[in-house]
Amino acid sequence: MAEWYTEILYPELAQRLRIDKVVFHEKTRNHEIMIFEHALLGRVLTLDGVLQVTEADEYVYHEMIAHVPLLAHGAARRVLIVGGGDGGSLRRCLMHDVEKVTVVEIDRTVVECCRRHLPAIGAGAFDDARAELVIGDGHGFVTKTKDNFDVIIVDSTDPIGPGEALFSRQFYAHCQRCLAPGGVLVTQNGVPFLQGDELRDAARRRGALFAHAGFYIAAIPTYYGGYMAFGWASDGADLRCQSVDEIRERFQAAGLETRFYTPEIHVGAFNLPPFIADLARIG
Ligand code: SAM
Repeated sequence: MAEWYTEILYPELAQRLRIDKVVFHEKTRNHEIMIFEHALLGRVLTLDGVLQVTEADEYVYHEMIAHVPLLAHGAARRVLIVGGGDGGSLRRCLMHDVEKVTVVEIDRTVVECCRRHLPAIGAGAFDDARAELVIGDGHGFVTKTKDNFDVIIVDSTDPIGPGEALFSRQFYAHCQRCLAPGGVLVTQNGVPFLQGDELRDAARRRGALFAHAGFYIAAIPTYYGGYMAFGWASDGADLRCQSVDEIRERFQAAGLETRFYTPEIHVGAFNLPPFIADLARIG
């Protein structure tokens, strides 16, 4: 009899994946962590019953959460990733000419089990001399740090449990303080079709703080509900006004090999369908 993983997204909505083999399963102070094998998706990481990342489609999410802000910024040297314990965002940031990427991940076991059981996602990124891993709460880190960053990427779980603090106005205000001039903040901002409130709240909180704020989108195959939104904010450039030519020049100079990201997709991702644009409209 097959064993199934059921992701209960809402009381009335769930998705199921057949488990071929459980590779890792442990409860830590922060999460219930499970990694299992799936015939179509490869290895799958779940935290507290919520699907986080799969080997089969991780490149869509990680290329969009990392290459968009780094190429939009154009000269990022110091990057902060809050969350991101699977290493996928770190790996993409290190493809750029950066000096240092600091990863602040609350759960050491997530990093360790992904390095061991999901090596294809991080691909040794944590061993790169430019990578610094800090085990701790991202909210506390940005509250205390004296460091400045050109790009801050919030690659977090959803706003429940330890992730909740990473969607607060205070957190965004501290991120703004930590950003160097022209710096860019990008966040995982859920699936608007099902989590519209999350997007609306984030739009209001970031819109009240930053000169420019908005969203870009991509469809992550294993995130149920269609487009996923990435929040962005900056007191420097308005990322919606960058041309394909400008982004293509940077993309080519960076010599990136991608499976989803292109300069055309980058610029196109900021064009929101009305149902998302309406949610994002602040006030
Ligand atoms: N791609 C996934 C998504 O879109 O939901 C995110 C994956 S990544 C594994 C999420 C990470 O955020 C987890 O490893 C979790 O431990 C970390 N995290 C959650 N809350 C955190 C906090 N307050 N500070 C630092 N890391 C946190």
